[in-house]
Amino acid sequence: MNDLLTVEDLHVAYRSRRGPKPALRGVSFKVGSERLGIVGESGSGKSTTGRAVLRLLPRGTTLTATRMRFDDTDLLAISEREMRRQRGARIAMILQDAKFALNPLKSVGAQITESYRIHHPRASRAELRERALEMLDRVRIRNPGRVYDLFPHEVSGGMGQRVMIAMMMVPEPRLIIADEPTSALDVTVRRSVLDTLGALIEEKGAGLVFISHDLPLVARFCDRILVMYAGRIVEEIAADRLREACHPYTRALLASLPSLEHQVDTLAVPTRDPDWLTGPVYRNGAVA
Ligand code: ATP
Ligand code: MG
Repeated sequence: MNDLLTVEDLHVAYRSRRGPKPALRGVSFKVGSERLGIVGESGSGKSTTGRAVLRLLPRGTTLTATRMRFDDTDLLAISEREMRRQRGARIAMILQDAKFALNPLKSVGAQITESYRIHHPRASRAELRERALEMLDRVRIRNPGRVYDLFPHEVSGGMGQRVMIAMMMVPEPRLIIADEPTSALDVTVRRSVLDTLGALIEEKGAGLVFISHDLPLVARFCDRILVMYAGRIVEEIAADRLREACHPYTRALLASLPSLEHQVDTLAVPTRDPDWLTGPVYRNGAVA
């Protein structure tokens, strides 16, 4: 499998009044045309990892890495302008809540056509509308013609996420970074939104980085799992081998789940070990 994204030894520190505050401490991973899940408790650095790849970090944040490549593009070397071109067109990000991510002043249709127009500047109005309707249909919105004219506050949470997925998929990105894309949704809606996302990714042969604190969900939805703890990837393992995980943190997470099918909202870890901060990390069942 060809790697789409390669990240090596990524360090990120946010600016704080008391000096740099490390959030990532040597994160390395690769993503190909697959579904890669990133799990870990709140504050472990999942979102920072996603934002670092897109270079969407607040001003004053320091980022260093020995490598951060997407396809043939060196993400560490390109200009901000070139980065903006990559974002959206080749790497897309889907966020937790469409209510905040969509423009409240523009209809659903207008937002999707805008996304399309950026990449097809000469498209006619009729063509734009047709493509947007097609896209709404693709994300399984039942009445695209009606939804086209709605404003973000008029659509449900699940529909909002579908609209956001439609918008993101218009330029046919090769890699999608989804940060808790379904956490705000009910379990039943969540499942069908994920089915839609999964089908689109499969069809396009795109890669997915799926960030979530829901380990059972990630185990079902993803091919491979990265477990983060305190700014490090402490374990990397195939989803279907999760039961064989080695790191004590991963093992504690597994032990706290009654079963992998059980739904949990937060990862609760009973006791922590200072050794997890600096101790060994595991890849595919062996110390890395
Ligand atoms: P959650 O599950 O709550 O979304 P996360 O794994 O996504 O957590 P991050 O948001 O990446 O975690 O945060 C990693 C660390 O960086 C935390 O200690 C957090 O407090 C800190 N952090 C995140 N964003 C900022 C910011 N904008 N400024 C300063 N510190 C930040
Ligand atoms: Mg987060």
